[in-house]
Parts: sequence; structure tokens; C-alpha cells
Amino acid sequence: MPVLNAEGKTFPTRTQVLIIGAGACGTIAALAAKEHGAEVLILERDAKPTGSTSLSGGQIPAAGTKLQRQAGLLDDTPEILAKDIIDKAHGECDHEIAWLIARESAKTVDWLVDRQKVPLSCILDFQYPGHSRMHMHASPSRFGAELLAALLTAVDKEDIPIATSARATDLYADPDGRIRGARVTRPDGKSEDIGCEALILACCGYGGDKAMIAKYIPEMVDAHYHGHVGNTGDAVKWGEELGASIKDMGSFQGHGAVATPHNTHIGWPAITEGGFQVNKHGKRFSNENAGYSEQALKVARQPEHRAWLIFDERCHRIAMQMHSHVEAENAGALKVCKTPQEIAKVVGCDAAAIAQTLAEVEAYASGKAKDPFGRDFSNKPPLKAPYRVVKIMGALFHTQGGLEVNKEMRVLKKDGSPFPNLFAGGGAARGMSGPADWGYLSGSGLLGATNMGRLAGEAAAELVTK
Ligand SMILES: Cc1cc2nc3c(=O)[nH]c(=O)nc-3n(C[C@H](O)[C@H](O)[C@H](O)COP(=O)(O)OP(=O)(O)OC[C@H]3O[C@@H](n4cnc5c(N)ncnc54)[C@H](O)[C@@H]3O)c2cc1C
Repeated sequence: MPVLNAEGKTFPTRTQVLIIGAGACGTIAALAAKEHGAEVLILERDAKPTGSTSLSGGQIPAAGTKLQRQAGLLDDTPEILAKDIIDKAHGECDHEIAWLIARESAKTVDWLVDRQKVPLSCILDFQYPGHSRMHMHASPSRFGAELLAALLTAVDKEDIPIATSARATDLYADPDGRIRGARVTRPDGKSEDIGCEALILACCGYGGDKAMIAKYIPEMVDAHYHGHVGNTGDAVKWGEELGASIKDMGSFQGHGAVATPHNTHIGWPAITEGGFQVNKHGKRFSNENAGYSEQALKVARQPEHRAWLIFDERCHRIAMQMHSHVEAENAGALKVCKTPQEIAKVVGCDAAAIAQTLAEVEAYASGKAKDPFGRDFSNKPPLKAPYRVVKIMGALFHTQGGLEVNKEMRVLKKDGSPFPNLFAGGGAARGMSGPADWGYLSGSGLLGATNMGRLAGEAAAELVTK
């Protein structure tokens, strides 16, 4: 992705704040920048904005929101959320950014609900691993497409233009790194140049670029990529050309329960509420409840890179609030089995192996034995027949490495100083998950996209209007 010398360049079309990408980060950045008085234009490579946002569960963590108070959740605080983020990353993330995002999270969710009319509510009936309070907020269907539709409606109401089928292919910059504009290439190969006073990179990560995954996350190169294919690492590629600081490139959000061959992810309550996974021999192989991200590699390392998830009707009912789980059910991915023999038939293993694993899990749940993988099953009711059984694989959802930003979401140079007018957020920026798969706290993707988007939009508007 070339960065071209802007010297002597003039732009017939100009805007104040140019935003690349119309996912959660880009749309929210645009809404915030417009609210703070800037003229804004969003560029989106696809004919219709979708991004990873619309594939997601749409669940946004926040601490201390009005919705939480209305729901009687009075004891959540930014301190607790910041600690959850930092603990999950084993302390290996940027603490200042984690604290900032945790502190801003309630303001962002309140603003989305009150001003942008995004129909969020609190998730009250289950907690993700690593969440020490009920942090999650989502729209009714618990589906990112609904979240993005609400954001696009808000963008439309504010008369913010989105140029679709408009891929930003090159940036124009001065030698000091000041961005002057971008070249947009249309599907027919024609191009046009648009000038700007500030640029926000909201074009997510590099999950859609196999060569980058092979370079930075080789352990996932053969795994199924479940995110948006158009996220091809353009922000990082421009950052490299500009001399930006780029960090945690081995970091990613995985998912250890994508139904195969149906390609839809199973609602994680299936695990948190007591479900477990076996390999083709009918044996458990991990603490499934450590986090859905790190579970991807644990599943991928099983024979034939596949496993089976076993849970019961109670878990299923809670998981059914997730759109993707409903899709799995509708696709016939979730087999109903009454006996160990029926489960063994689905898995293709010995019935005796399944019977033994079920008995072991029951002993862990009733406190008669301790799980050798260190999982505590005793805080949930033991599973009861009939069971649900689904064949699963580990998948890459999105990458978490990216451009290092400061508290205003300004992209930093390698020497730690900020570029004059370049901002980034969401999947384009370095996440809060540390260097690998295990540091991803559920919801960190949209936590970054929503909060960084708002902060970047506000800071860019302040820069161009002062
Ligand atoms: C299946 C799935 C479930 C998930 N569930 C959750 C969840 O429940 N909670 C959570 O917090 N996170 C979740 N995530 C992660 C979350 O979806 C992402 O972290 C988040 O959506 C990133 O938002 P974004 O705006 O940065 O990127 P995106 O939503 O991907 O938007 C980026 C946009 O930029 C466009 N683009 C890219 N390059 C260019 C270019 N050169 N020019 C113009 N446009 C460009 C893309 O087409 C895209 O529309 C999930 C991810 C997946 C895949």
C-alpha cells in the first residue's frame, strides 16, 4: 500500500476528516467528529458496509453504564473492567490505553444509546471467562449486523456521506508524515484523489491477508478465517511505509467453537454454563472455559483439527439468545443425543470413552473429583440428558496487533512521537490483548472499535476545527 509524496499535489475534492472503513470504528468516529463540528467523509471498499462488525456477536463491554444501573448492576466500575482487561492480557498490554478505554466505556455506551439511538441492553444471564462483572451490552438479536445497521442509520440521519465501492489504495503524505489525502480506487480500476486535514484509519486488521497471517501468526495460517475478507491489513501496510510503531502483531481473537461444516459459531454460554469438548477419541483435552480465543488453537491441535462440543438443554437455551447459535440450530448442526451411545455415534468413537468422560465431568460438577485441566465445573448444575453435540473447529476471528496509538488515538512514530494528523482505532490499532491469543478478553474487539472510534473522531475534529 504505497504512501506517495504529497509535494505539489492538489486535491479537487477535499474534506476535513477522512475516515477509511465503515465498520463500528469508522461509523462511530464519523458520528463523533461530526458532532464536534467537523466535515466528514467515510470511504468503504465494499458496495455495502459490513466489516467484521456485522459478522460479530455485537457485544460491547462497558462499566458503569445507565443500562447497568437500570438493570440493578450497581457494582461495576471502570477499575474492575480495566483490571479484567489487564489480567486477561497477563499485564502485557498498554495499561494506559486499557485504563482509558475502561474509563470511557460507559460514556460511549450511554452516548450510543441516548444520542445515536442504538438499541442496546445488558446481557444478564451469563458471564464470559475473565469478566468479573456483567460487562456486556448488545442489541436485541445479539448480532453485529443489527448493531452496524443502527450505526449506519445514525450516520445517515447526520447526513454523513459514505463513499462505497471506494477502496483507499494509497495515501499522500508530506515528508514529516502529515497526511494530505488518499487515492481511492473503484472496482472498474478508475481512481480519484481526496484531500483531508486529518485521516482516521478504521479499516481493521489483517485477518484477510494470508501472507500477513503466515508472517505474524503462522500457527493460524491453516485455520478457517471467520472475519471480514476485506480486512487485508492496509492500515499496518501504510504504517510500515510511514515508519509507524506497530505492536503485538502475533495477537488475535480466535474462537474455539465454530460449527463445521456450517461455519457459524456456537454461543459461548454452551461452555460457560457447563458444556465441554472432546476429541475424536471421546477425551477432553483442555480447560474449555479459560477463554474462547485461546480455545481455537487447542481445538486446532486435536487429531484432524476437529473436536466436538457437548452441552445440555439448559446451556442451549441461554446460548440461543446469540444469533450465530440460532443459525447453528437452524442449520441442523446441533445433534440431539439422549445416551452416551448416541453421542459416540456423532463423534465416531467408542461409547465407553464418552460414558467415562461424561461420568468424569459429572464428578467434577458435583465436587467429587478435581478436573486435571483446572476447570471449576462446580459452580454450574451438572449436565442432564438430552445432550446437544456439535462438530467444531478453531477459527481466527480477527487480528489484534496494529498501529500504536496514544490517548487521543493519534498514531505514534517509532520514536514515540505522534504523527501530525493521523489517527487509528478498532482493529487497525494495537489491541489490549498482549502479544498472543490468550490475552483477548471477550468483547475487546468492539470495546476497542467503539471507544477508540469515538475518541479518534473527537480528537480529529478538535484538530481540524481549532
Ligand atoms: C464472528 C465474529 C464475532 C465477533 N463477536 C464479537 C463480539 O461479540 N464482541 C466484540 O467485542 N468483538 C467481536 N468480534 C470482533 C469485532 O467484530 C471486531 O473487533 C470489530 O468489529 C472491529 O471493528 P472495526 O470497525 O475496526 O472493523 P470492521 O468492522 O471490520 O470494519 C472495517 C471496514 O474497513 C473496510 N476496509 C478495509 N480496508 C479498506 C480500504 N483500504 N479502503 C476502504 N475500506 C476498507 C472493510 O471493508 C470494513 O467494512 C467478532 C468478530 C467476528 C469475526
